[in-house]
Amino acid sequence: MQKKYAIFGDPVEHSLSPLIHNSAFEALGIDAKYYKIHLKDGTKLKERFFKEGLCGANITVPHKEQAFMASDYLDPFAKSVGAVNTLVLKNGALYGYNTDAPGFLRSIEKFDDIKTILILGAGGTTKASSVTLRDAEYRVTILNRSSGRLQPFIENGFECYSFDNFKVGQYDLIVNMTSAGLSDDSLPAPKELLEELLSNAKAVVDIIYGKETPFLKLAKAYNLPFSDGKEMLIQQAVLAFDLFIDGEYDLERVEAIMQNAIAS
Ligand code: NDP
Repeated sequence: MQKKYAIFGDPVEHSLSPLIHNSAFEALGIDAKYYKIHLKDGTKLKERFFKEGLCGANITVPHKEQAFMASDYLDPFAKSVGAVNTLVLKNGALYGYNTDAPGFLRSIEKFDDIKTILILGAGGTTKASSVTLRDAEYRVTILNRSSGRLQPFIENGFECYSFDNFKVGQYDLIVNMTSAGLSDDSLPAPKELLEELLSNAKAVVDIIYGKETPFLKLAKAYNLPFSDGKEMLIQQAVLAFDLFIDGEYDLERVEAIMQNAIAS
């Protein structure tokens, strides 16, 4: 019987996940389909998952915390960050995982000689990624517009600044992990500050995808190696796919298929 998978979100129309996952199912000869579910009320996530007869799902904004709560079992990393972006059905129970941060880690492996990382933004994605990057032995600093969200990061031992007390230093990789530029034309930090950071950096990432953000546009003027959010999107999808099909296929092959799907 054909297996069903979906992405839950609000909004979800823009999602490239169906294209990515369906291309892998098709290329690998797996009888499965993956589709979008626009879910407004996150508390209905579990009920809808079972009603649709799904074998697995991805969860995007704003339901990752609801997915965490809907999970019967949590993988230790998802448990530590309090957010789930991948659900897998096993023996009638929902297993929750978070592939965003390991996906981000995979997405920066292509850059050479990166030791220090400055993350702009202190939201949910930074919460998960900062720990993963530190575990991978990068030195991580967090800079956020306001100080309100920084306390948990400070308690977790991260070097943290808000625009008020930040003094520009040298960071190998600058990452926009804010939503600045997603649905407006704003930069994630004052322009002069970004220009100083970029002139000392070795590479740049913006995790927003689907448009060239003002940040990426500014960064490109410095001729640095860069990637946009499509790279992270692919890498988190490769890891989610691996969970869906229980590690049956070579990840490099899955990645190549997915990269090809969004390139065409
Ligand atoms: P959150 O809503 O949890 O956090 C948003 C962060 O952005 C906060 O730190 C906030 O700062 C900051 N921010 C928002 N607007 C501005 C602005 N105009 N200037 C400066 N800072 C700003 O978001 P998430 O962590 O969930 O997501 C962050 C981004 O990552 C989103 O754009 C999302 O689309 C993208 N994303 C991409 C993925 C991919 O696969 N490519 C996966 C996951 C997320 P403050 O505290 O001051 O409000």
